[in-house]
Amino acid sequence: MRNIDFKFFKGNVLNEYNKIKKNDGTPFKVYSPFWRNAEQFYLERLPDKISKVKKCKKINTLFKNQIKSEEILPKSDWYKKFEKYWVPSEQKAHENLDNFVNKSILNYGVDRDFPSIKGTSLLSPYIRNGQINVGDIWQKCKKLKSNNVSIKKYTNEIGWREFSHSLINYFPQMLKGNLRKEFDKFPWVNNSKFLNAWKKGMTGYPIVDAGMRELYETGWMHNRIRMVVGSFLVKHLRINWKEGEKHFRNCLLDFNEANNVAQWQWVAGCGADAAPYFRIFNPILQGEKFDKQGDYVKKWVPELSKVPPKFIHKPWEMEKKYQEAINTIIGSNYPMPIVIHEKARADALSAFQSIKKKISHQ
Ligand SMILES: Cc1cc2nc3c(=O)[nH]c(=O)nc-3n(C[C@H](O)[C@H](O)[C@H](O)COP(=O)(O)OP(=O)(O)OC[C@H]3O[C@@H](n4cnc5c(N)ncnc54)[C@H](O)[C@@H]3O)c2cc1C
Repeated sequence: MRNIDFKFFKGNVLNEYNKIKKNDGTPFKVYSPFWRNAEQFYLERLPDKISKVKKCKKINTLFKNQIKSEEILPKSDWYKKFEKYWVPSEQKAHENLDNFVNKSILNYGVDRDFPSIKGTSLLSPYIRNGQINVGDIWQKCKKLKSNNVSIKKYTNEIGWREFSHSLINYFPQMLKGNLRKEFDKFPWVNNSKFLNAWKKGMTGYPIVDAGMRELYETGWMHNRIRMVVGSFLVKHLRINWKEGEKHFRNCLLDFNEANNVAQWQWVAGCGADAAPYFRIFNPILQGEKFDKQGDYVKKWVPELSKVPPKFIHKPWEMEKKYQEAINTIIGSNYPMPIVIHEKARADALSAFQSIKKKISHQ
């Protein structure tokens, strides 16, 4: 055995995860007190006591043979389509941050919920790939020296990212299964037909389908829509959240193990400080509230482009005659809903009751 000394560094997070814990030394499982502590701890460390790294004048080459960037690209060019949507560079990441902070951050609190507007920073793929550091983002926001609630809401999201990383570090078993063990008994449904319909954006629920198609086309999906499609998978279809997590892992350019696993468990209700399972998103109402005119749906589900706003989130309710007149036959040009919302909701609630009963009988 060779005794090799090593050090580990926190990487792209604000704090070393093991620095943030409750007074009794145990990890936080609730977001708000976690973030209050984590933000305070980070603030107190600024400016960093460790002397700043001076700009390196001479570039040292540690390896004899270097890999050219072209050599690490995948063999097939599936990634080419993303060039339409993303410019992967540090410069672009900082440009996006500047634009966001100068033009959009003050409206973030409201705009961030509407998928048809560019109301969020779109920085996640850059953070994920190390082109921007979360510390730089946090500090840029704090330099605004404003109590504006939108700025706070934005830095709170960085806080959710910190929280997810903390959870995964303290509870690495989350990567394999439910944090809340009672969910190990949840009666998930195996239905590959429904799972494929979900992945392809063919569930018959326009807001869900728009999100899934946006994900496949751009490698990114709006946060509200991630919650809607996630809820639809685990509650309306009762498919295990792990299937959703796997699909997101394969498609997201911002895929991050900590965020993805913690957020899927948040959606499914089996994680820390999670949305309770019984709170079931209604995909019709979510659409009507956050995409009233249907602009987002029409962008990603063009076969519904002639459907008026009144029916855009429930196109199956249009009269047959009207469907013919606008050349949009539901069940032919676009699918009928694969499940009926009210029934799926009732079934999900009774499945949830069944695990509660099992626990109380133990
Ligand atoms: C089911 C599900 C899976 C997700 N998987 C991922 C993932 O793999 N990688 C990922 O980076 N985010 C994930 N998220 C969180 C969130 O959807 C994205 O971070 C956000 O949409 C990225 O867009 P943005 O940069 O414009 O975000 P903004 O709203 O501009 O937020 C700024 C930054 O804060 C962080 N952030 C924002 N929301 C969250 C959140 N809810 N949890 C943790 N961090 C957040 C991100 O780093 C983001 O770039 C997931 C959310 C859900 C519901």
